[in-house]
Amino acid sequence: MIETIYIENELMATPQAQRILAQFPTADKIACDRYTEVFNPKKQNFRLQKQKPALIIAQKFDRHVLRAPDDYGIGGIHNYYFSYMLNCIYDCRYCFLQGMYQSAHYVLFINYSDFFHSMDSILTNHKNENVWFFSGYDCDSLALDPISGFTSHLIDFLKYRKNAYVELRTKSTQIRSLLKAPPMTNLIVAFSMSPTKTADKFEHKTPSIEKRLNAMRKLADKGWPIGLRFDPLIFDSSFEERYRTLFAEVFSVLSPEDIHSVTIGPFRMPKPFFQKLVALYPEEPLLASPFQLRSGSITYAQTQEEQMMQFCQHELRNYIATNKIFSCWTGGEHAKAENVCT
Ligand code: SF4
Repeated sequence: MIETIYIENELMATPQAQRILAQFPTADKIACDRYTEVFNPKKQNFRLQKQKPALIIAQKFDRHVLRAPDDYGIGGIHNYYFSYMLNCIYDCRYCFLQGMYQSAHYVLFINYSDFFHSMDSILTNHKNENVWFFSGYDCDSLALDPISGFTSHLIDFLKYRKNAYVELRTKSTQIRSLLKAPPMTNLIVAFSMSPTKTADKFEHKTPSIEKRLNAMRKLADKGWPIGLRFDPLIFDSSFEERYRTLFAEVFSVLSPEDIHSVTIGPFRMPKPFFQKLVALYPEEPLLASPFQLRSGSITYAQTQEEQMMQFCQHELRNYIATNKIFSCWTGGEHAKAENVCT
């Protein structure tokens, strides 16, 4: 799958980097000083690179954990996010990462301890209060877990920090490290879901909805709390039927007790990112949807968005208590965030 690996010189001899390199014995290995030399140059062709992305093994020196946008969260007061990876092995046509980054290569920051150190500093600032950390903003949190090994490190970190809550957001079925560990109430595995026909059309290379549901069931059987993320909602002429069917499918596999939280969110994307997507995929029907520009973001028209959100909220209440349903949407106003990947 990965044929080229760039690695920062300083990391070359570290056991962690060597463990990852050993998984790709035939890949070309190229040393670099900083990942930005490869990842940041302008005029790279994201669409072309996406056909054969390289892995870049790097370290992150600052801004490991950042405050989440206002209104983003699942009931907690203190909300932060972190990205130990940039980019994703999947290829969702609505993914804002395509608009945000110059490169489709995967960057893996392997200095996990620095991320945990930052989380500890934040926990110290909120002594005896619950703090939420969201992963999955700039990547899929689990898709490359067999390579990164991040989840096992995270589990070790969270074991002794009961007021630290983490959401791992994913479309992946790479759940082995979770299944091996005892369940934790402060680690939520949140699956992004779309109706099957929508996923088949726009979520390229992702596990099918059926496979995601199987993974959720396995985790729930072990006692892991599950999150459901219906975000972004994608419109089409059979929107109501598709989402009604999806909710029925999900809740035929999972019971309300398995579910930690449900979030729903409308499609939203900063205008410059959207323009870049249109340039990359001019033939993509999704990008020709009747969107509007509102407060700097490309979205569905306000009335249409309201109908979609209200329909889903109403339908979900047939299955799960209202206090488990969250949204960054407050009657036409969006949180400042674009759709969180994944
Ligand atoms: S939306 Fe999420 S799963 Fe899809 S490509 Fe982007 S990061 Fe990956």
